[in-house]
Amino acid sequence: MIIVMEKSASKENIKRVVEVLTEHEFRVIVNQGEIYTVIDAFGDKTSITPGRISALDGVKEVKIIREPFRLASRDRKSEDTVIEFENGVKIGGACKPVMIVGPCSVENDYDGLKQVAFAAKKLGCEFLRGGAFKPRTSPYDFQGYEEKALKYLKRASDETGLLTVTEVMDSADLDLICSYVDVVQIGARNMQNFKLLKAVGKCNKPVILKRGLASTIREFLLAAEHIMYNGNERVILCERGIRSFDSTFTRNVMDIASIPVIKKYSHLPIIVDPSHGTGQRYLIEPLTKAGLIVGADGVMIEVHHDPENALSDGKQSLPIPVFIDMMNRVNKMIEHLHYEKKCLSADVD
Ligand code: PEP
Ligand code: MN
Repeated sequence: MIIVMEKSASKENIKRVVEVLTEHEFRVIVNQGEIYTVIDAFGDKTSITPGRISALDGVKEVKIIREPFRLASRDRKSEDTVIEFENGVKIGGACKPVMIVGPCSVENDYDGLKQVAFAAKKLGCEFLRGGAFKPRTSPYDFQGYEEKALKYLKRASDETGLLTVTEVMDSADLDLICSYVDVVQIGARNMQNFKLLKAVGKCNKPVILKRGLASTIREFLLAAEHIMYNGNERVILCERGIRSFDSTFTRNVMDIASIPVIKKYSHLPIIVDPSHGTGQRYLIEPLTKAGLIVGADGVMIEVHHDPENALSDGKQSLPIPVFIDMMNRVNKMIEHLHYEKKCLSADVD
């Protein structure tokens, strides 16, 4: 249940609402907005009627959230969540879609990473991605350079001004990762690692949460809910394709419809990852465009300075020249879509 307080509600009014809810064993989060105070109450709604709360002084409205993902739902927050970084980059709402690019794994060759980072910066991209701790199907495959990779990401970020993203697989590594990067990623394989979701819920960095390999949209949003419930509201969802019966031509089935569906039911930003979504270089450009057309707030793409010799996901990684060529076209599209997005939110310059 959500309790919206009157503009004129006093501190005593708010305290009383909290008191009554806690007496009925609700967990309460008080959000002090600029105009209204909104109270999120989690508990057994049969133990108290909304009417009992409405009757308290200073209460404007009591809303019952229909969706099981309560914090992430549109019912709770009708306006889009916009996540803002210190350098002014924003994700979500009417903001220009962001580009997150880089190799699957950060490798031993700093110069290779630097080439990707400088190309990305020049093309107006906002984020550099790269795995330091890699979730690999086989234990014999490259597992990531860990802290050394984090150092490389930080160095590339210092040299270009790009923000950085890397995956966390174990909460024991979280503090170390947070000390180097701007955004932590929960990979598809860990979407329902609830202890890890709880840990990133308690960290102070935005989180990119990737959709699980066989997860429904509801499970996806409930995974985001775990992070939010534990205190971190800065969640960016990422559609990266799901397993289905047909993997003849594509690595996964990229569920493009999930973007407008999620936009309808949730206020959280959502990006697309056509690299893992399709596993095919030639499909990156069309699926990037498709994702943007249906409203994605950003795109994550794997780019490598030498894909043929990449230590992971070389087959789906774009070589730098191909990426540059594609971005020249995608940037034009982004410009146009950004204008439309702004018009929709009636925020045109
Ligand atoms: C990745 O982004 O490098 C990755 C491993 O992605 P996913 O979790 O979507 O497979
Ligand atoms: Mn990869």
